[in-house]
Amino acid sequence: MSARGKAYTMNYKTIEMSPNKKIALVAHDNKKRDLIEWSKFNRDLLAHHEVYATGTTGAVLEKELKFPIRQLESGPLGGDQQIGSKIVDGEIDFLIFFWDPLEPQPHDPDVKALLRMAVVWNIPIACDRASADFIISSPLMDSTYQRIVPDYADYRRRAIPGVASSVPSGKK
Ligand code: PGA
Repeated sequence: MSARGKAYTMNYKTIEMSPNKKIALVAHDNKKRDLIEWSKFNRDLLAHHEVYATGTTGAVLEKELKFPIRQLESGPLGGDQQIGSKIVDGEIDFLIFFWDPLEPQPHDPDVKALLRMAVVWNIPIACDRASADFIISSPLMDSTYQRIVPDYADYRRRAIPGVASSVPSGKK
């Protein structure tokens, strides 16, 4: 039984990640310095991928790294949700998100939603420098990778209590 009360089976499919990865970078204010240092150290590795970032993170990184970064809205103004939406649309391959564990954020629900979307779609996430080091140095970074994701078709067709026949919803 799922938390929503109805059992459904889960099959899997794969989404191909190309050698040229689409990377999202986000850092809360107290973690921006960490992300800048990490990104400068890994500048040449990052430069041959496609880098996205929330607004302020992107602006400071572009200045430091001197290559174009696709800047979205600032996190608290919707940037985290924009990244979440790109994950759903298959436009982001992995997420480096240095969130601040010591300070509540005005957009805490968005932070949680972004991390949740990353897990729903099996996107690699690094939330601290050590994890980011392991991800960036993986041989998979520069190769094609078949990312396994649940095939949510059965979930979309699940029976809804009180509704006679269910209609498949969303992305096919
Ligand atoms: P920022 O947003 O890059 O615009 O500061 C980061 C965040 O808090 O999500």
